[in-house]
Amino acid sequence: MEKTIDEARDVACLYLVIPCYNEEQVLPVTAPRFLEKIKEMEGRGLISGESRILFIDDGSSDSTWSIVTALNSRDHRFQGIRQSRNRGHQNAVLAGLMEARSKADIVISVDCDGQDDFDAMDAMVDKYYDGYDVVYGVRSSRESDTFFKRFTAESFYRILNALGAETIYNHADYRLTSKRVLNAFADFHEVNLYLRGLFPLVGFPSTTVEYERHERMAGSSHYPLAKMLSLAFNGITSLSIKPIRLITGLGAFVSLVSFIGVIWVICKVASGDTVSGWASTACILCFVSGVQLLSLGVIGEYVGKIYMESKHRPRYIISDRTSGDE
Ligand code: UDP
Ligand code: MG
Repeated sequence: MEKTIDEARDVACLYLVIPCYNEEQVLPVTAPRFLEKIKEMEGRGLISGESRILFIDDGSSDSTWSIVTALNSRDHRFQGIRQSRNRGHQNAVLAGLMEARSKADIVISVDCDGQDDFDAMDAMVDKYYDGYDVVYGVRSSRESDTFFKRFTAESFYRILNALGAETIYNHADYRLTSKRVLNAFADFHEVNLYLRGLFPLVGFPSTTVEYERHERMAGSSHYPLAKMLSLAFNGITSLSIKPIRLITGLGAFVSLVSFIGVIWVICKVASGDTVSGWASTACILCFVSGVQLLSLGVIGEYVGKIYMESKHRPRYIISDRTSGDE
């Protein structure tokens, strides 16, 4: 006879971790939908009655925090923490995960703008009961994106993997993690956060669930091109040292070419054919100094990262909490 979930094991307590930055337009639209989802899953016996929706206000300058506190006083399933200032999406998610891990059995991190399909959560929780500790939400298509965003995003995953950083193709930060994964993850102390690349390093059984990514329900994106590039660069340099190895390879190649060049010059001198031209000299000079500056820049990036890591500054500071429901 088939066992129901209740008989098979305890019903898991789920926390949704939802970062919000200046989302006063979006929260009133999506918050009731998150609540609906939680209630529906609870009604089907998939998650326990202690499950909560945890908003992390990432130092918003609009009325986001007052919306969160109002939601909390309306329904205790809505909880909120507030960062002392804007620290960026990755740090906001981290703050939420660390806050939730002591209370929840499973945590799903999801954007607050309704772009991540709510209905994928059921499949994620099912996978958890099947024995997976990490369930990565993977976008099934990128049709709602502009050609430019689609192209840059897809090239990014290819470059990351080519550079040796293990990442899940088309996975952003829509992800289920179990308590034991979060407890292990708490020992990762790095300041340069690239969460989607760190969870594969934590290990434990993992799988993926496909979902459709929709348009934002309201408001506008906080990830302009410059921020996207910075996240991408941070991803590569915090997960892999392959760029430095490539520089070594490039250095070896340029040295070899130069060595051949020197032999050629010696032959020319020996044969008396030494018509000096500034063009070739200038070209070589430009090329070599360009390569050197670029290489210095990449190495500098790693040195900068070491500098930031060595300070051991806190990765998030919580300034306010909504009232608890104990
Ligand atoms: N976000 C955040 N801090 C920031 C920027 C964004 O917490 O500094 C949140 C934002 O409220 C949203 C999620 O991160 O819930 C993803 O941001 P957004 O939708 O602007 O990015 P996109 O989906 O366009 O990549
Ligand atoms: Mg979004």
